[in-house]
Amino acid sequence: MFTKDLKTFYNKMGIDSKLLELSRKIEGELKERFNHIDEIAEYNQLKVLNAMQENKVSDAHFSGTTGYGYDDIGRDTLEQVYADVFHTEDALVRPQLISGTHALTVALAGNLRPGDELLSPVGKPYDTLEGVIGIKETKGSLAEYGIKYRQVDLKADGSFDYDKIREAINPKTKLATIQRSKGYDDRPTFSVEQIGELISFMKKIKPDLICMVDNCYGEFVELIEPTDVGADLCVGSLIKNPGGGLAPVGGYIVGKQEYVENAAYRLTAPGLGKEVGPTLGLNTSLFQGFFLAPTVVSAAIKGAIFAAKLYEHFGFEVLPDGVEDRYDIIQAVTLDSPDAVIAFCEGIQAAAPVDSFVTPVPYAMPGYNCDVIMAAGAFIQGASIELSADAPIRPPYTVFFQGGLTWQHAKYGILMSLQKLLDKKLIQL
Ligand SMILES: *Cc1c(COP(=O)(O)O)cnc(C)c1O
Repeated sequence: MFTKDLKTFYNKMGIDSKLLELSRKIEGELKERFNHIDEIAEYNQLKVLNAMQENKVSDAHFSGTTGYGYDDIGRDTLEQVYADVFHTEDALVRPQLISGTHALTVALAGNLRPGDELLSPVGKPYDTLEGVIGIKETKGSLAEYGIKYRQVDLKADGSFDYDKIREAINPKTKLATIQRSKGYDDRPTFSVEQIGELISFMKKIKPDLICMVDNCYGEFVELIEPTDVGADLCVGSLIKNPGGGLAPVGGYIVGKQEYVENAAYRLTAPGLGKEVGPTLGLNTSLFQGFFLAPTVVSAAIKGAIFAAKLYEHFGFEVLPDGVEDRYDIIQAVTLDSPDAVIAFCEGIQAAAPVDSFVTPVPYAMPGYNCDVIMAAGAFIQGASIELSADAPIRPPYTVFFQGGLTWQHAKYGILMSLQKLLDKKLIQL
């Protein structure tokens, strides 16, 4: 029941009663969908729990090392837990991997050699990788080291262009990088099953092709991960899904032992690899965050679907829509005007547990040809598993948002975003 106390508290926190009623109705319609999401979380919770038990995670694993970090049994056990959850031979899970981009860079640079070719069979990769690969001329890029890049764009309907992919694969093609999430693009996110089909297709053409998946924002959204369908390497950020909101920094690379080891030689030094790397007291957060990740991810997905439904109700275009299957935690909403984008972000910010009192404003950012607005009131700087939104201020005025450590908070944030639109008379109830 929607108790009077709850309603009063929402009113006190700035949400209007009519908006609450609408949200109640929409939440009611989502019951079955939410049950399904809870079941996925339940399965993934068991998966993580089982891996922790099998590896006898214990208090001794929570003390950190310093300096070289030799014999860090917590670090080694955490890596074994990741390897078990992803069903891979090996894992590199380190606070020294400072972001998703860094983890992807280490995986690529560790496994490619001068003269090799890198292939993206799914179109343009995430913005930050343009510099890494050298699509955009950048100091230290893979291109500077003589690694060539080929890209096969998706077909107009968002599907894989198998003919062109077959043409692109040649004896020099060493590694194919597949980005699972659409990121901040307007293409669909791929299901793990679709990624599996693509990998099978490419491996038939070149069995020794290393297939790597950029798994950012995808972890624990489904029952399986890309490594369950043939990916040789899978890479992500710990301040997104698998850190569960508790990891203060970090990235992971899981996959075949040889390829993970190659990445480790690049992260630390040739010959040293995984043997060094202090955890500096962060082990507890990395273990506990991974333990919480399945339910945190489910909260974020519920928030994304709830938002899709509500914004659809007000006539805005949303991607994905309110009914389609989800393969990552990102929600795009096209708001049609700069004022609406700003109001949306103000709402997300005002709903945050941290810095709720600040007002986000659009500003110029390197790499963008227009102003960008960002809303984030996060415990961990830049953590996008926490409720956050950002948008370039340009047509069609699409805002991308993601995260929410709890469903209740995601819900409040979305209601607050709508409340700001209502207050500015940009929508009507
Ligand atoms: C977030 C993300 C990355 C890496 O971004 P960082 O901000 O460096 O962690 C790469 N690919 C995708 C699809 C992402 O969502």
